[in-house]
Amino acid sequence: PSLEDTLLASIRTIPDYPKPGILFRDITTLLGNARAFRRAIDELVHPYAGQKVDKIAGIEARGFILGGAVAHQLSAGFVPIRKKGKLPFDTVRVAYSLEYGLDEMEMHKDGVAPGEKVILVDDLIATGGTAEAAVKLLRQIGADILAACFVIDLPDLGGRAKLEALGVPVRTLIGFE
Ligand code: 5GP
Repeated sequence: PSLEDTLLASIRTIPDYPKPGILFRDITTLLGNARAFRRAIDELVHPYAGQKVDKIAGIEARGFILGGAVAHQLSAGFVPIRKKGKLPFDTVRVAYSLEYGLDEMEMHKDGVAPGEKVILVDDLIATGGTAEAAVKLLRQIGADILAACFVIDLPDLGGRAKLEALGVPVRTLIGFE
């Protein structure tokens, strides 16, 4: 089967989660499928094979799982980007808007050194608000962001354009309308 068919068949859709009217794309079934998980990681990393990548930045929580595997494959380090209050050392912080109100995300201030080449990883991009906040955090500490990579794109929600407007190349493996 094609990569697209493998991924589509391994992602479970849950209607009305976490709220009525939302179709949640559940990647736990992809992660639990050895072949689909490997193919997704291989596809995420292949453009960067042989390039110098210093760090993978993964967004809590599913970005940790995918980002850890990507980091290993590229022989890069891994840095977690977390909801506020979860990291033990000194952090940089950025506020971002959710559907209702504001939240903040953080990373350790020494998680990336100025000038290091970083790839941002998460499972899914929708409006791009989460990834945009992560880009701002990484740039606050002087990271050179090579790309932002996601398994799933929801193209109708415009996240790709939001990141591209910040000068961040976006790579996604499959889209759901
Ligand atoms: P955005 O900020 O782009 O609107 O939303 C993306 C963030 O919300 C990502 O961190 C992603 O994990 C999460 N998210 C939103 N909708 C879904 C979904 O349907 N499935 C999954 N797996 N994550 C989602």
